[in-house]
Amino acid sequence: MTEENNRKSIAVIGAGIIGINCAIELQSRGYQVTLVDKADAGEGCSKANAGHFATEQVFPLAEASILLQLPKMLLDPLGPISLSVKHIPKALPWFIKFISNMFSSKRKHNTNALKSLNQHAINYYKPLLKAAGIEYLLTEKGSLLVFENTPLRNINKIYQAYKSNGVKVKLLNKEQTLLLEPNLNNSIQYSLYFTDVAHTVNPLELCQKLAEYARTIGCQFKRFDIKTINHLESQVDISDGSNSVTYDHIVIATGAWSEPLLNQLNYKLPIEAERGYSLDLSDQTKEQLNRPVASAERRFIITPMSHGLRLAGTVEFAGLNQAANMKRATMLFKNAQYVLAKLPELSENKNQGWLGFRPSLPDSLPVICNAPNHQNITFALGHQHLGLTLGAITGKLVGQVISNEKTDVDLTPFCISRFN
Ligand SMILES: Cc1cc2nc3c(=O)[nH]c(=O)nc-3n(C[C@H](O)[C@H](O)[C@H](O)COP(=O)(O)OP(=O)(O)OC[C@H]3O[C@@H](n4cnc5c(N)ncnc54)[C@H](O)[C@@H]3O)c2cc1C
Repeated sequence: MTEENNRKSIAVIGAGIIGINCAIELQSRGYQVTLVDKADAGEGCSKANAGHFATEQVFPLAEASILLQLPKMLLDPLGPISLSVKHIPKALPWFIKFISNMFSSKRKHNTNALKSLNQHAINYYKPLLKAAGIEYLLTEKGSLLVFENTPLRNINKIYQAYKSNGVKVKLLNKEQTLLLEPNLNNSIQYSLYFTDVAHTVNPLELCQKLAEYARTIGCQFKRFDIKTINHLESQVDISDGSNSVTYDHIVIATGAWSEPLLNQLNYKLPIEAERGYSLDLSDQTKEQLNRPVASAERRFIITPMSHGLRLAGTVEFAGLNQAANMKRATMLFKNAQYVLAKLPELSENKNQGWLGFRPSLPDSLPVICNAPNHQNITFALGHQHLGLTLGAITGKLVGQVISNEKTDVDLTPFCISRFN
């Protein structure tokens, strides 16, 4: 902590898991931090996600093998991936960039970049959770990726790909899988057991408790819907259209809503809201799993949460404003019936489902950098399927960037200049 830090005021815009982590790191470094959001902490995409610290997910989403399946998947409204016809003109440039990231040199570059972040992800959370007194919100029991009918030779290829990228993984047969998770459906034949990953039993509580901790160390909170950002010579002015406040520095961590704010500053941001759904089952299901179980074929995940199992997944491209299609949440229940041996009736589950907006860039990498043309603005956004996982490491890196320190990870691949 330096005297200079003490004087500098910083607004972190966006109180999702990314913004909260940035605020804690910056406040701990002695800056005067205000966490700004139009809603309560954790009410955006960080609210009801799958709670998986998914450090094994080192592969970018753009993968050539999905190209052939994509047209069919995209137009099936209840398939694992769907595209609203109305949204096609808006999403087209994103898809073109997404496909261009399938080339093997780009894929390798993006995989290495993700690996460089994922390797620190869980370790950077631990001291934070300890300081906040919420270590119970991180469970380290690994996770399973289960297979019903994929041929063993294909599973082996997937296994080798993870191993060769340094992911700690074991290939288990049916008996070994059932020893870990006895309540799985008999149809499960094999699994990949990621031994070093973790989960939280309540992502919203994690956000709320971390936000509370930020408050106890001196961070201020402000409810403000930012409409304009005005970069002054040595400060930044943010306004909701009627009132404005000036800070020495701002961090933009507004997830899927970031594009208009960055456009105002003349940065292009090809971001799509990859809409995903979750569905909470009744508390009778609480004891059914010990760890997150993802289905390779059905492309969704089941996580044991403090209140019962949570089913989560699906990708829907329909922008930020179209109404939720809760059939996609109930579809998760149908899929879960193939993965678990028994489930209570859907009608016994009080929850009607939740829609979240994953902030996704076509190369699957977040933007973590200082704004190249604005010395008092830092970006921390675009964490796609991995925002929970990468919260703590992102906060640490933002602290280092703003303090002009050498960063723990090379931030070159995460600079906004790749789109500008
Ligand atoms: C179904 C589903 C399952 C998922 N499972 C996992 C998982 O298991 N593991 C994992 O790592 N990730 C998972 N994710 C992804 C993860 O939830 C996101 O990557 C993460 O929540 C993004 O965090 P964020 O802080 O960037 O955005 P958000 O949590 O969306 O926060 C952004 C905040 O900015 C605020 N904001 C936006 N615009 C403005 C403005 N103009 N003025 C003021 N405030 C503003 C919003 O109100 C919001 O609170 C999942 C996502 C979904 C949908």
